[in-house]
Amino acid sequence: MNNYVFTPAPQAAVPVRGGARHYAVSRIFCVGRNYAAHAREMGSDPDREPPFYFSKTPIDLVMSGATVPYPLGSQNYHYEMELVIAIGRPTFRAEPEQALESVWGYACGLDMTRRDLQIKAREAGRPWDFGKDFEQSAVMSALVPASEIGHPASGAIQLSVNGQVKQSADLRDLIWSVPEVVANLSQYYHLQPGDLIYTGTPEGVGPIKPGDVLAGRIEGVGEIALTIGEPE
Ligand code: MN
Repeated sequence: MNNYVFTPAPQAAVPVRGGARHYAVSRIFCVGRNYAAHAREMGSDPDREPPFYFSKTPIDLVMSGATVPYPLGSQNYHYEMELVIAIGRPTFRAEPEQALESVWGYACGLDMTRRDLQIKAREAGRPWDFGKDFEQSAVMSALVPASEIGHPASGAIQLSVNGQVKQSADLRDLIWSVPEVVANLSQYYHLQPGDLIYTGTPEGVGPIKPGDVLAGRIEGVGEIALTIGEPE
């Protein structure tokens, strides 16, 4: 095709562990509150009300190991350490009992957040896009196939900033489990290979500043790192 008015952006993609293959990304869904203690720290009362979602744009993706500038328009930039699901087959109206068959693999993710803009929008009843969907806000490690590691239902999820542990929880603390999230989201979207789902963050979110070094890990899945640079 040579009739575009400008050169199209490259296909968004995430490396598979080992580096020989890539997973092409089409959509990025994110679960809102999915750990009770984090829901409480954000001022809400956790219960089994249905999960809710927001989205990020694939152009927001940045790989583990990067240095990202402190974002535009915010004075309260936060980390959120999360397990990421990569969908591997078309999935529509799945039952939780079958939903794991739709999962191709997993990664560590950081749902970077302009917390001041998110809360301002939340309080005004407006969309969260300014707080959540911004450049370099979707950080990911390499993907690992479920065929190699299985489907982690438990295991430590941790994040440290400058060597100090800030988030420390267990995947079993998810209010909505991986199969429940996939099944629920598939009631609203025709999920496809290329769809990522950030599953929500445990308690302990907080602000970061230029020079900070983030290091996260999920037992059985992998590790993730990010350095915060000066604003550009
Ligand atoms: Mn999040």
